[in-house]
Amino acid sequence: KREEVPASVHHIDPALVDKRALEVVATLKKAGHEAYIVGGAVRDLLLGLKPKDFDVATDATPEQVKALFRRAFIIGRRFRIVHVVHGRGREHEVIEVSTFRAYLDHAAAEHVQGNEKTSKAELSGMRHAVDASGRVLRDNVWGPQEEDAARRDFTVNAMYYDPQTQIVVDYHKGIQDAQKRVLRMIGDPELRYHEDPVRIIRAARFAAKLDALGFTLEPRTARPLVACEHLLRDIPQSRLFDEMLKLLQTGHALASVAQLRKLGLEKGIYPLLDIVVERAALPLVRGVLQDTDRRVKEGKAVAPSFLLSCVLWPDVKAGWERHQQAGEHPFPALQAAIDEVFAQRIGDVSGRGKLAADMREIWVMQPRFERRTGHGAHSMVAHIRFRAGFDFLRLRADSGEVAEELVSWWQQFSLADEERRSDMLDQLR
Ligand code: ATP
Ligand code: MG
Repeated sequence: KREEVPASVHHIDPALVDKRALEVVATLKKAGHEAYIVGGAVRDLLLGLKPKDFDVATDATPEQVKALFRRAFIIGRRFRIVHVVHGRGREHEVIEVSTFRAYLDHAAAEHVQGNEKTSKAELSGMRHAVDASGRVLRDNVWGPQEEDAARRDFTVNAMYYDPQTQIVVDYHKGIQDAQKRVLRMIGDPELRYHEDPVRIIRAARFAAKLDALGFTLEPRTARPLVACEHLLRDIPQSRLFDEMLKLLQTGHALASVAQLRKLGLEKGIYPLLDIVVERAALPLVRGVLQDTDRRVKEGKAVAPSFLLSCVLWPDVKAGWERHQQAGEHPFPALQAAIDEVFAQRIGDVSGRGKLAADMREIWVMQPRFERRTGHGAHSMVAHIRFRAGFDFLRLRADSGEVAEELVSWWQQFSLADEERRSDMLDQLR
């Protein structure tokens, strides 16, 4: 049932709404379309949090949306959306605009995908998108707003906010659930996890993110999680990797690890994540998770390579020792150990080459930090990845692995002028 909730009930502070999102909604509405802020942004606004990004939902098709903006790009194949871009370079901002989609339950979706030839005529009544091979894309079947709401995951993620009238459109009692601090899956949770097993990870993520505000998963929503976990085996590694990073790099890493344990999902979502949870109590891993949460809250950048280099450091160290005991020289031994860790632990993930290169650099710098020779020290501070290597060294010191003195030496050395640097190196002899 569609409910229109006025500002006097939801108390959203219009000042928290992004100006660009307002403009996008205004442009769409002026052209005669429906347009709302949707999803996570409405949830966060309702809770008084500053949303990290604003998504817009509309009844206009991607082509119609694109035509209304100067810089707009249709992206995605499985899920076509429009990126409306404002500004340039580092300051640029993207508002994602998606067209209301039909809710296809499992049977309907199979029908759409399975009978692509025969059902074309039937489907012609529906507005749908077809990919290059003529296959109807299940996620690109347009539909009414009511169905767009029903296909979303949690009730608090399924609301629409019109910033002009300040009305929230709510089909699933999302406002009530937000007030009661309940995370409730729309529909039958078990069915929804079967439809898209990634929702299992999302359940843990939102439970972690909203834990501090007193939210808990509704028991019906939580109960099938463990039994459905095996469904994640059919999800591409790259998507699982991305979901893992959302758990660990959006400011709630420690809470996510705690939540996974609490829900009984500490093992089996994704191999690298298993290791993170398993090692979360190690000082170095605990340190990097804490650091990551702090950095995100301060609005600083976080890199997956840095996080993973901490998580996999115990493997690198063990392999390094093993190779040295077999008589190899330290440097080739370290390289060999790193190769083994990549082969064993980093699967088929997007950007793997760059990720691995960055991790390798951080690791290879560590013995060079410990050596401190004249020429070596100068090239270290000139290294473009010095900062990452140094931050890693600091975490190792915090966890008692190397002396604190080494960290302060490098800190001073990196800030010192040429004369002072020579003095510092002389004193080492
Ligand atoms: P965050 O603040 O972390 O970005 P979010 O709620 O905005 O959280 P997104 O992943 O950005 O999450 O997705 C935007 C919206 O799309 C969600 O709020 C939800 O309504 C819908 N959604 C995303 N992924 C799914 C999914 N797997 N199943 C159902 N609905 C989904
Ligand atoms: Mg979002």
